[in-house]
Amino acid sequence: MKNKFDEFYFENDTNYPANVYWDLYDKNHMEAIKKYDGHMFCPLCKLAPLTVAKGNQRRYFKVIESDMEKHDIECSYRHKKATKKETHNFYKDLDTTDIRNRLVSCLNRMLKSVLKDTNNGNSLMRGEKKSKNNFFDFKGDSGENKYLPHKNFNSKNLEEDMDIQKIYYGKCALYIYKYVPKDETDIKMYYLKVLNKNSKKQICEISISPYVYNYLSDELADIPEDKNKALNYYLCFSGILEKDKYSYKCKLKDSRLMVLEKE
Ligand SMILES: [Zn+2]
Repeated sequence: MKNKFDEFYFENDTNYPANVYWDLYDKNHMEAIKKYDGHMFCPLCKLAPLTVAKGNQRRYFKVIESDMEKHDIECSYRHKKATKKETHNFYKDLDTTDIRNRLVSCLNRMLKSVLKDTNNGNSLMRGEKKSKNNFFDFKGDSGENKYLPHKNFNSKNLEEDMDIQKIYYGKCALYIYKYVPKDETDIKMYYLKVLNKNSKKQICEISISPYVYNYLSDELADIPEDKNKALNYYLCFSGILEKDKYSYKCKLKDSRLMVLEKE
């Protein structure tokens, strides 16, 4: 099955969710084509060029067959996506140090700009890399390399295969709600509210038990409790999303299933 990308890497910049393209396309399609077409690449290895499918019903980005070889040699998109069962088995026998390393790589590779501050000599050109491109890979049931399901939570299609555990990542604004039941003094649950950076609309809510929170307290201490003061963060976590009344929700099962960094 062909991979349909719901995000793209824009030349010498960063990854964008697909709707950045389509929003401009719907406003002025010539402008979108001029700006992006031919300058979009695989969001992971940044090397294989993306082609745009512009059907009335189906809009997506793909790497055409003859360009498959342009993916970096270790790019995950040379492999197939893990099945639901393989993904389940991966998380069942989880090595928590291993998953944390994967999430850190994901945060750095999928969310940060490729061209850093050009004055400090650390600038990274397209195709160069500090981290590897195979942090989503693992051995599936048949011993074949597969990649873990993952998704930018700023994509529009969060409902797709929602029952499969995924690595979710994205830029967002965060605040935290500490739930204390009436007539009690102890915090019973922490709710990390993940908001769209621009609209401040809630994307999802991650519930964190006090036990799990303890391990993350250093990283979560700076997150404001007031929605109006929500701070911009890079966030990456693994879990199963559920549809909630106002947005999505997810239970954080282990502190090593989440990494975050102030933008
Ligand atoms: Zn690639």
